[in-house]
Amino acid sequence: MIQWFPGHMTKTLREMQTKSKLCDFFVYVLDARAPLSCVNPEFTKVIGDKPIIYVLNKADLANDVETTKWKNYFTTANSKAVVLNATQSKSSQVIIRLVNQIFADRLKANAEKGARFILRGMILGVPNSGKSTLTNNLVGKSRAVTGDKPGVTRNTQWVKLSPSLEIMDTPGTLWPSFTDQRVGYRLALIGSVKDDVVDLYDLVCFFIREYADKGVFNRYGVDIGDKTPRQVLEGIATKRGCIERGGDIDYERAERLIINDFRRGALGKI
Ligand code: GDP
Repeated sequence: MIQWFPGHMTKTLREMQTKSKLCDFFVYVLDARAPLSCVNPEFTKVIGDKPIIYVLNKADLANDVETTKWKNYFTTANSKAVVLNATQSKSSQVIIRLVNQIFADRLKANAEKGARFILRGMILGVPNSGKSTLTNNLVGKSRAVTGDKPGVTRNTQWVKLSPSLEIMDTPGTLWPSFTDQRVGYRLALIGSVKDDVVDLYDLVCFFIREYADKGVFNRYGVDIGDKTPRQVLEGIATKRGCIERGGDIDYERAERLIINDFRRGALGKI
């Protein structure tokens, strides 16, 4: 059972709720490998009925066909969706174009009146989805405070992108309990839940059970057949030399190997 909702997330959500009143739109960052699991029920209250731009981020690590389907899924009357690799310089410009499109009438009316006004957008998403990488991309600076560890708190502040556009990055937040445990496992796989609160063996068995028939583990050269997740794990451990001095299988090393391979994209676009 996976659960991770430390106190600072409650505080963050409260602050986001307050600051959201100043926002005209929201940039909702999702990991394209598990977009639905990245949808935080707590964000519904923060966003209300204002426009959303969903970002299917880390698209370079996700299956292209599935990502296109998700893009359609997240495009509604009140929301647009973009497919992105936030580590690619200037890739985020597509978001600016969408903002200009969504607010075209207001921008035009204000320009005609000569009125000055500022559009404000909040960037939100689960930990590790790529929010600060995206913020840096929008600002046009090289990486500043990104890291592959979830739950690193940081300051929320407005950043000016142009005279009429400001954005605010927010710390990643989860929610009090996952009703579907598969959501917890998926979030753990993509690094949105702190590794310390996860049983690695359970996580890897989940991963093998869910994805073995999709060819994800073929690169290890083990026969999957109708093997149990434990047997597949043992097969991979043996192939990769994750063996202790006495000849026993080093489960933890094999578990870390598989998870790291997944996270860095070595198992293909999933
Ligand atoms: P945050 O916690 O949501 O702010 O996430 P970060 O911006 O700190 O990113 C977490 C990790 O994901 C970092 O190692 C980033 O370099 C990496 N990352 C962010 N966006 C992408 C992307 O589009 N593709 C890939 N491959 N890695 C990304």
